[in-house]
Amino acid sequence: MSLLARAEALDAADPLASYRARFLPAPSVVSYLDGNSLGRPLAATATLMDEFVRDQWAGRLIQGWTDGWLEWPLTLGDRLGEIALGAAPGQTVVADSTTVLLYKLARAAVDARPGRRKVILDTDNFPTDRYVLEGIAAERGLHLHWIDTDPTTGIHPEQVLDAVDEDTALVLFSHVAYRSGWLADIPEINRIAHEAGALTLWDLCHSAGSVPIRLDEWGVDIAVGCSYKYLNGGPGAPAFAYLNSSLQSSVRQPIQGWMGHRASFEMGPGYEPAPGIRALLSGTPPILAMVPMHANLDVLAAAGIDAVREKSLQLTEYVLDLADEWLTPLGVEVVSPRDPSRRGGHVTLRRPGFEQLLEPLWSAGVIPDYRRPDGLRIGPAPLSTSFTEVHQGLSVLRDLAEKHR
Ligand SMILES: *Cc1c(COP(=O)(O)O)cnc(C)c1O
Repeated sequence: MSLLARAEALDAADPLASYRARFLPAPSVVSYLDGNSLGRPLAATATLMDEFVRDQWAGRLIQGWTDGWLEWPLTLGDRLGEIALGAAPGQTVVADSTTVLLYKLARAAVDARPGRRKVILDTDNFPTDRYVLEGIAAERGLHLHWIDTDPTTGIHPEQVLDAVDEDTALVLFSHVAYRSGWLADIPEINRIAHEAGALTLWDLCHSAGSVPIRLDEWGVDIAVGCSYKYLNGGPGAPAFAYLNSSLQSSVRQPIQGWMGHRASFEMGPGYEPAPGIRALLSGTPPILAMVPMHANLDVLAAAGIDAVREKSLQLTEYVLDLADEWLTPLGVEVVSPRDPSRRGGHVTLRRPGFEQLLEPLWSAGVIPDYRRPDGLRIGPAPLSTSFTEVHQGLSVLRDLAEKHR
């Protein structure tokens, strides 16, 4: 069977194929392969946004806060926890940005392990994670222990075992590595960290909405992630944080705002944290930016995260096959795991000079993601991408890679 015939057969057999039509069209885009950077909007999102502005904002004005807006960070958090994170209610909030939540939670975690001076992280984690931890280390006089990860794979449990000790306060990694797509073994790394008495913080930006997550079952202490990648929340959509209920009375975040107060509207003299997960909040929640999440969670719940993962693995497998057939002969290297149990939702291809192909790719309506120095990330979001769309995009890449050899 030809590669194109295979794409057509996969599309015909795809149980999620109908979901693609629920997304708003992008007339100039032939192949969108960057769902891992900014997910596409649902048509329902445009309707909900319009209705929200007209009926709730205009119609209810400040009454909206008591109608329910004040509860959205928690109710949306619980829903997200149930549909995508494997988290029982009362442990997830929607708030802030990933960067800000990383700061709040990592600071809270190191303060919850007083006397321990070491934080373990890896050199290939996303820049914001590394930068935030550098700042916290300087603020708290901590030592950062950097694990040198191979950028073609990612963090391995043995590396954590070698690094962790009784001086370790916190261990921080990404569930799916943003560069290679490596899927970390959360349960095993948690077990190793917990044996040494350290807390774990997982960044779920590249797995939420793409890979099934079982935070409660895996014994995760803390997690953060964003909602604008595979969760289709829109540019700058708020992030989410998970704090295991067993830690909620001992872990205290540093941005003590009125929305995390025990009684926000009493306007009292001193800060007293709210009981439970609400204490993670700081200021007024970004209600407008949370509107799309209602539509996105409905769709994800209907499709089911396991079916999404199944299609995601088929899509990335197909990308690997196209790369082997078309691109490897042109000097392109695949730098993502071939083992499906260790592969997240995207595939990264590498060749010196890939940067020059970006503009011609965009002009041809093909939108992958580029990460310096020479990585092209192919991130086909399962709910909005067809196999033929992947075929189209990579055939344009092949022609350009041949021309610019
Ligand atoms: C996308 C991403 C972020 C983004 O953080 P923002 O605060 O939303 O800019 C953080 N960490 C990882 C691993 C990411 O992939």
